[in-house]
Amino acid sequence: MSNLKAAYFTMEIGLRADMPTYAGGLGMLAGDMMRSCADMKVPVACVTMCWQHGYMKQTIHPDGSQNYEDRQWNPEDFMKKLDKKIIVTLEGREVTVCAWQLDMKGRTGFNVPIIFLDTNCEENNPADREITKYLYGGDGYMRIKQEAVLGIGGVRMLRALSYNEIGTYHMNEGHAAFLTLELLRERDYQNEKVIPSCAFTTHTPVKAGHDVFSYKMAHQVIGDMIPWHIKELAGEDSLSMTLLAMNLSHYTHGVSKIHGEVSKAMFPGKEIDYITNGIHHLTWACDDIANLLDKYAKNWREDPSVLTAMTCDDIPDEELWSAHQSAKKRLIDEVNSHTVIPFDTDTLTIASARRVVPYKRPELLYENLERLREVAGGKIQIIHAGNAHPSDEFSQSVIQRMVQRSGTLKDSIKIVFLENYNPDLAKLMVSGADVWLNTPMRLFEASGTSGMKACLNGVMNLSTLDGWWIEGYSHDPESGWRIGPLAKATDVNEHKKIDAEDLYTQLQFEVLPEYYYQDRIRWIRRMKRAIGLVGVFNTNRCVKEYLSKAWRE
Ligand SMILES: *Cc1c(COP(=O)(O)O)cnc(C)c1O
Repeated sequence: MSNLKAAYFTMEIGLRADMPTYAGGLGMLAGDMMRSCADMKVPVACVTMCWQHGYMKQTIHPDGSQNYEDRQWNPEDFMKKLDKKIIVTLEGREVTVCAWQLDMKGRTGFNVPIIFLDTNCEENNPADREITKYLYGGDGYMRIKQEAVLGIGGVRMLRALSYNEIGTYHMNEGHAAFLTLELLRERDYQNEKVIPSCAFTTHTPVKAGHDVFSYKMAHQVIGDMIPWHIKELAGEDSLSMTLLAMNLSHYTHGVSKIHGEVSKAMFPGKEIDYITNGIHHLTWACDDIANLLDKYAKNWREDPSVLTAMTCDDIPDEELWSAHQSAKKRLIDEVNSHTVIPFDTDTLTIASARRVVPYKRPELLYENLERLREVAGGKIQIIHAGNAHPSDEFSQSVIQRMVQRSGTLKDSIKIVFLENYNPDLAKLMVSGADVWLNTPMRLFEASGTSGMKACLNGVMNLSTLDGWWIEGYSHDPESGWRIGPLAKATDVNEHKKIDAEDLYTQLQFEVLPEYYYQDRIRWIRRMKRAIGLVGVFNTNRCVKEYLSKAWRE
């Protein structure tokens, strides 16, 4: 029936706030990549999983404690059920996999099918029906089953749907690496017949983020699929999904320049390139900014590379400021529907939102409260958001402390923690804040994309030099601010005190004076420079790089 340039396999995809089929940045990137493919009319299909429960609904109580609840949703409200079913054998049982299709239409109507695999069908026993219940939930056995459904089931489903000619099987993270086992089976177990058809994106600079299974467990679950030479491909002692993916791909890449280097150090001897992440510009521009760009950066919808420091320089200051202030008002109105002490649109507003994990150092701004009060008392307001994992007590206690701190500091600095971070809230925050704060420990942030969303809306980054921001900042240092040293990080010591001190210094001597200076001339110029970065950091550019490096077949 159809030929595809690529089939993009991903464990999660973030498409809408009311479809909990994702957990975080990996899924958001997958969604933005597919949107750009649809806009650019690149014939691809996406293969992913129909999770009943992805990220959970977070509620925050006044004392900062949190509740996390499963979110209910009906796939049939968003997509159509396909009539094809395939079988994957797990633990010796035949498990039926059915599928749903969501049609992702590009700006001129070109369609990219997103295929969601689902084991919740009546042929299966109750336990197997739950394989697609919890994204990243369950033990190692469950994880192997889920990854077998995605990789092996995914290839079989593409065959059943008559996608016979597929240029490249793209693995978005090692979760999808079992697809290589099905290709090996189809191609006489010859590595060299599989390698030219596969490409791999690695996403995590943290060892624990890479799936590794014992061979015993793997044999128990998918014994008949494991080829005799598996140890040559996936590691001597245990089955590494990353090694399996890498050894059977003609092209492997990390998601930023620094992450490419970190990955090479993690896997010595492997060739690992990088393609820095991007964002889908049409999804993340708020209406006010989009209208302005229609006027002053013609053709930006079709070709976001027109967004440069030079083109954005043509936007009149007053129009940019008034577009920004309407976006800010929308955010502040949302905040004020949750707070007792109202926020206002004239105070410098700093926002920071992300998954709450230790390496992102969500509390860096509060390292020295005395200093923070002295520098910023009465001059800033702060908006936080972010989910913790329901079983992660440490991260929940971080959120709790941040909520409680808003009480301690309320006389000098307004702070709010908005509950239930999702793409809708993300868009409000990245467009309505004045400054986007990100403070990861260096060498730990693979790329990050929320800062790019902020840039597009004329919101400046104030961030440690890690992930994409190393490239963004060096592309145009006038587009935002850095925290901490310019020198390349060589180790993973966190230098928390130094970074915190530098954060206060930046606020005191750069950010605050510029914001409150009459007419805000330099501030608004910086806003334009921030928008100009998106000419590079967008997913249309990523798709072009994928086409020339990864999807060549
Ligand atoms: C963009 C986005 C992310 C990823 O952003 P990071 O910069 O990696 O933190 C995560 N969650 C949501 C809802 C997003 O919109």
